Amino acid sequence: MSALDGVGPALQGRLERLGIHSPADLLFHLPLRYQDRTRVVALGALRPGQYALVEGTVALTEEVRRGRRMLLSRIGDGSGFLTLRFFHYRSSQVRLLQAGRRLRCYGEVRAGATGLEMVHPEYRVDPDSGGNATEDRLTPVYPATEGLSQYRLRQLCRQALDWLPRLDLQEYLPPDVLRRQGMPTLEQALLEAHHPSPETDVAALEAGTHPAVRRLALDELIAHQLSLRRVRQRARSFRAPALTIENGLESRLRQQLGFELTGAQRRVLSELQTDMTAPRPMMRLVQGDVGSGKTAVAALAAVRAVASGFQVALMAPTELLAEQHQRNFARWFEPLGLSVLRLGGRQGVRERRALLARIASGEAHLVIGTHALFEQQVNFSRLGLVIVDEQHRFGVHQRLALREKGTHGEVLPHQLIMTATPIPRTLAMVACADLDVSVIDELPPGRKPVTTVALPETRRADVVARVQAACASGAQVYWVCTLVEESDVLQCEAAEQTAAALAEALPELHVALVHGRLSGTDKSAAMTAFERGEVDLLVATTVIEVGVDVPNASLMIIENAERLGLAQLHQLRGRVGRGETGGVCVLMYHAPLSEVARTRLAAMRETVDGFEIARRDLALRGPGELLGTRQTGEQRLRIADLLRDQDLLPVAQREADRLLAQKPALADRIISRWLGRDPDRYVQA
Ligand code: ADP
Ligand code: MG
Repeated sequence: MSALDGVGPALQGRLERLGIHSPADLLFHLPLRYQDRTRVVALGALRPGQYALVEGTVALTEEVRRGRRMLLSRIGDGSGFLTLRFFHYRSSQVRLLQAGRRLRCYGEVRAGATGLEMVHPEYRVDPDSGGNATEDRLTPVYPATEGLSQYRLRQLCRQALDWLPRLDLQEYLPPDVLRRQGMPTLEQALLEAHHPSPETDVAALEAGTHPAVRRLALDELIAHQLSLRRVRQRARSFRAPALTIENGLESRLRQQLGFELTGAQRRVLSELQTDMTAPRPMMRLVQGDVGSGKTAVAALAAVRAVASGFQVALMAPTELLAEQHQRNFARWFEPLGLSVLRLGGRQGVRERRALLARIASGEAHLVIGTHALFEQQVNFSRLGLVIVDEQHRFGVHQRLALREKGTHGEVLPHQLIMTATPIPRTLAMVACADLDVSVIDELPPGRKPVTTVALPETRRADVVARVQAACASGAQVYWVCTLVEESDVLQCEAAEQTAAALAEALPELHVALVHGRLSGTDKSAAMTAFERGEVDLLVATTVIEVGVDVPNASLMIIENAERLGLAQLHQLRGRVGRGETGGVCVLMYHAPLSEVARTRLAAMRETVDGFEIARRDLALRGPGELLGTRQTGEQRLRIADLLRDQDLLPVAQREADRLLAQKPALADRIISRWLGRDPDRYVQA
């Protein structure tokens, strides 16, 4: 910051509070709004609520006491009068504002008891003396901080603008791109955003839809893309084992599965195999809607790694899902002579030591666990592939951490990340710019869409009758208990009470219960019994939200559905409709519904398409919430807004690619002017 005049350590500290570290940062510190001091408004034309520059002659100034002491000054200009009201003033002001003085004031016009007034306006006495013409540009109002005045900020930004020619901000976008977008050059955009001419559409500037702001947003998105591409390049510069051996395991596994892969599954699998055959680490995101069959694809990718002599780590978001994976993968892999092992949080010291030894010796082919798999001292003998299943959060930071864990010198394992819930394409482009993306855009054949109904809590008796009828016809049912409070204890208690009440109301049914506070053994016992069809009704908390796969379950009741987000509702609902009988999801709610809750429940009734749900969720919640990365990179954008500027994302991506290919040095300069000395700003959590 020392590059700017008169910036000492105290001021520097205040600027840093605003995220301003360099002259370029000042340029990207855009005004929140603008004031029009370019013309003097006649007093008779003033309207309440308006900010205006006015001029007039003081008719009367007096100190009055109405409860508290104040100074009132009345000015007139022939067209009308205006009262200036000061609660804080010095006695010198009383003399200064004596009758007959000419004043120029700027402030917000309000309707007072005796006509229009301004409270504490900025004012200047004898404006015509000393060459004080009106401004010829709109005056910026910047986001400020304590101890840093608008006046000082304006000076600094003005100074930075004067420095423009020295700041390496020459336009680099091709003229035809600017023309097509209707955007000014970078330099014009900065001048316009900071000091717009009086004719400028101020509302558009303030809303960020003005071409000048869009040009700056595009610059930021390009910097963002570039920085993530650099991460990707860095990771690609590592080596990875080329998993080229196909020794028949794959086709034997396909037979084990008991179904034919869908076309989409086959296509994605072959994309994975192409990646894994290369000696560079695969970094691929597989997007697929709930129930699209990601697990089978992951399993087939895994056998490729094993056939080539490497181990595979499979990371699940919950212990419950890790256990389910262990059962499924053991069923598929063990007949092929492959060993599947699960490292869990509740295993005894001795058992754990034995498992770790089998991992370190390479005897374990597939190791399943939660994220703890990578947090603890787990040493693989030859880790070739890391699979992250049902990933909700897409912070680049987490991926980097994961990559590091698997590093053996300069060699990285391949990485396959599977989404829990689809994310809209535009968002994936930003949040996952360091990944390649495959989409399983087809559901296994024979699926009938889940019918979704929303019922008020007052119809509970009908819902219970529905459960009874479904179970009588051989179906299995989930009853999901959710609570307002974040309290795990309360949620589990509610589930216990509900299970007891349902068991009493439906004595002919086998009711089981899973929640987070049950012992691991009890939980897996309940889950396994439900999988085997020994339990009709499974009462559960949201622990079953992700990944749980019991095809015979065809009815789901979700309590307090109005409290849940769209993504979570869609995930939960994805547990039913996996078999060939179709499914029903009942969303029970407490009336009255808020506007947002109503929109969410309507969305759930209208569509079962996860990508469509994600688009609506994006509109309702914004990108940070959707990606689970509110605190990370995506939110650190200064000017761009992922929702508002969605249409610029493809442009940013294209231009970033072009720059990297043709002008790598310029690409680095663009990154550093947005990210300064912190090139990984978008990357850190
Ligand atoms: P998700 O993508 O949500 O993880 P799963 O992998 O759990 O989905 O698969 C959902 C269900 O669909 C499972 O019961 C699985 O066995 C079944 N399935 C997967 N692929 C196919 C297919 N090609 N044909 C028929 N059923 C399939
Ligand atoms: Mg899954």
